[in-house]
Amino acid sequence: MKKLVALLALTASGPALAQGQLPKSVVPVLYDISVTPDAKALTFSGSETVTVDVREATRTVVLNGADLSIGTATWDNKPVPHRVDAAAQQVTLTLPAEARPGRHQVAFTWTGKINQSAAGLFATDYTNVDGTPGRMLATQFEAPDARRFAPMWDEPAFKAKFRLSAVVPAGQLAISNMPGQVTRRADGTQFYAFGETPIMSSYLLFLGMGDLERKTVKEGNVEIGMVTRRGVVDQGDYALASARKLLRYYNDYFGQPYPLPKMDMIAGPGSSQFFGAMENWGAIFYFENTLLFDPKISTASTYQRIHTVVAHEMAHQWFGDLVTMRWWDDLWLNEGFASWMESKATNDLNPGWQARAEEVAEAREGAMGIDATAVTHPIVRPVQTPDQISESFDSITYAKGQAVIGMIESTIDADPFRDGIRRYMAKYKYNNTVTDQLWGELPPLAGRPVAEVARGFTLQGGVPLVTLQGATCANGVTTARLVQGRFGLDAASKQPQTWTVPLRLGVVGQAGNQAEGASVLVSGATPAPVTVKGCGTLVLNQGKGSYTRTRYDDAGHAAIVRDYPRLALEDRVGQLGDDFALASSGDQDLSRWIAVMDRVAPDAEALEWQMVSGELSRLTGYYEGTPVERALRAKAAAKLEPVLARIGYDQRQGEAVQVTNVREDLIAGLGSYGSAEVAARARAYVARLATDPAAIPPAIRGAILATYASNATPAEWDALLAITKAERSPVAKNQLVGLLGIARDPANTAKALALLETDSFTAQQKAGLLRGVSRRYPDRAFDWAAAHRATVDGWLESSTKAGFIVGLGTGSNDPAMPGKITAFANANLPEASRQPARRTIGIIAARKAIADRLRPAVTRWVGSGTAAN
Ligand SMILES: [Zn+2]
Repeated sequence: MKKLVALLALTASGPALAQGQLPKSVVPVLYDISVTPDAKALTFSGSETVTVDVREATRTVVLNGADLSIGTATWDNKPVPHRVDAAAQQVTLTLPAEARPGRHQVAFTWTGKINQSAAGLFATDYTNVDGTPGRMLATQFEAPDARRFAPMWDEPAFKAKFRLSAVVPAGQLAISNMPGQVTRRADGTQFYAFGETPIMSSYLLFLGMGDLERKTVKEGNVEIGMVTRRGVVDQGDYALASARKLLRYYNDYFGQPYPLPKMDMIAGPGSSQFFGAMENWGAIFYFENTLLFDPKISTASTYQRIHTVVAHEMAHQWFGDLVTMRWWDDLWLNEGFASWMESKATNDLNPGWQARAEEVAEAREGAMGIDATAVTHPIVRPVQTPDQISESFDSITYAKGQAVIGMIESTIDADPFRDGIRRYMAKYKYNNTVTDQLWGELPPLAGRPVAEVARGFTLQGGVPLVTLQGATCANGVTTARLVQGRFGLDAASKQPQTWTVPLRLGVVGQAGNQAEGASVLVSGATPAPVTVKGCGTLVLNQGKGSYTRTRYDDAGHAAIVRDYPRLALEDRVGQLGDDFALASSGDQDLSRWIAVMDRVAPDAEALEWQMVSGELSRLTGYYEGTPVERALRAKAAAKLEPVLARIGYDQRQGEAVQVTNVREDLIAGLGSYGSAEVAARARAYVARLATDPAAIPPAIRGAILATYASNATPAEWDALLAITKAERSPVAKNQLVGLLGIARDPANTAKALALLETDSFTAQQKAGLLRGVSRRYPDRAFDWAAAHRATVDGWLESSTKAGFIVGLGTGSNDPAMPGKITAFANANLPEASRQPARRTIGIIAARKAIADRLRPAVTRWVGSGTAAN
């Protein structure tokens, strides 16, 4: 599954599962499932016969079911009584006599609900290209919602084969994991019988149908399909071409050919609060904004996003689908690996995109932010309830998982690591694993078993901090001392703790060569000597492949500042990240970050400016609504304006994708700081929309509209609302709706909130609008949601209910907010669902600690000169 909104989507909810996992005495072998959906009535009926293997004689059979109304249940063709435990999401059959070990058949009939958010079988409504209304059906089963579709052993370890069939309205197209045979029935409807799947986990089953178009290409014997609502299938061409290259790449990398005859990519209109795409085996589901390239609104970054998401979901076809984690506590292995692989494959297939350096700028920072606070947790942790399963899909699982896999690969080296993955795939295909089984297939890491090093990062939370002291050079050899501790942004995480950290030390030689260096393992809390060949500036964690923050003594840092332009891009971006973080944690003064930032020249790599722009935006966010805010915004604007002036508003023929990306960042950043020049440009562009719908070039469309929205007067906001209402593309419309919430003028915020009580938008769009408000005014968004709880709950997917409202307050700088969140959670959420509230409070506390710590230095900085330096 691909998460798009990592922090805000951290969630938990739903009924607590009384006990954990299903008994293993009866296991499914083959499901024969048939469903008849009624899309108009939002219900469906189903029947199934499941061939099971009784492993131990038993009189009770327990499986999962949720929100299903079960009609009949039979065991070996004889009716048997069944009991539904709604809270536990279980169905229990009591057999008249003990079932003997061996094959048996259990059958059910039932009716179920078609949901309007992405859980189980769900409907998505949209407007067709010709203006008529459309409704598409699709399934989303991870995790754990297959039980909302049919009674199932809905746990990843119960792998079985599936034969699915469905009654489909005339003229519609239906898609599942395997190709289907269609027969027309007397009443005009169609009967789709899909081929039997290989053995797989229940959460990977898929069914979709609607007024769809399908386009295919072949790669070897595999048919790759693009499936969209009618009229937009050509927007899938880029994803289709990427998927072809990726299939070839992965067939080679994993050493196992893709095992199904086809792989469809289905584009669903709409969006989810929880995910962007899902790796159903052979039938990957995406929301349109992660799969389709619409030339009217898409930009260079859209290509990157599409490629990255397709690479992620396709990596799961092996890592996740062919070999699956045994239980959700190892979810990180699925998601961390797919996230790492998406970056590796994207980097290998599109070297110009600098995906590896972008990983340092984004995934690494994303993980280390939350991992350095009290609310972190180990990557591997016990998971029992559906609440906890939903909670597992967080930035620790994805981004820290990615960083840890990347650290292991870079230490072992790419080829031996890949060979280990090939052994793992060959050994465990069609099976389930735990994390240690992967480590067992990898060669030693710096002479130590991988598991020994890896466990330090997977079984304990927190970020290491490695400090370099006293480097001296004699006879062409540099000696220094390394000491480690734990990096913490708040008091609770500033604890003594150690890891075995594999680390690369590099030397920027006087001649500028970077050939020298050494790989070391840093363990224990006492300073240990290291020696490196060569003399010059020492670069700690060269390449930024290790999951650690790094700190220098004064002389070491001064050398880094001096040689900054000669560092590799990963090290430049990583240095900005480390210095900003170390100032935030109080481990060093903000002046060190300022000194490095001042070495980023106007013509530096776009990614460096993206990093600076992001850090300035975070810094400004800490002081939103406080006396220092205005001066800080001006300081940030003065820093970024010359860069935008240099690259210009217009995309140049053949420019690097990073330049296009940073232009968007700079416009949006400057727009949010209230830069008069950028705001005036945005007004001029939007004014031209009335006569020319293509007036804003796609490459800056999002940023220009965001700037316009941020700075809108009440009359301009009304114009934006009119543009939003007229928009037909679901992706463009969702973007616009979110922007209605971000206006700085509080009168516009009031109008945005009032819109939430009308029926102008879909439930998903209203959730997006409220989230937009929370970006500018977290307190108002939270207060409104708390006062309209039932309304807001009605928009949400079950997996996001516990986290959504409390998450709106995350950006708040009001000291009263933690108390309000606690009171809300206590009054409205069961104890088992309060973890997201505690998490939000932890993040607010860490933000406040950072803001207090940095205030004197920030005040000094904004007061010092106004020139762009
Ligand atoms: Zn995933």
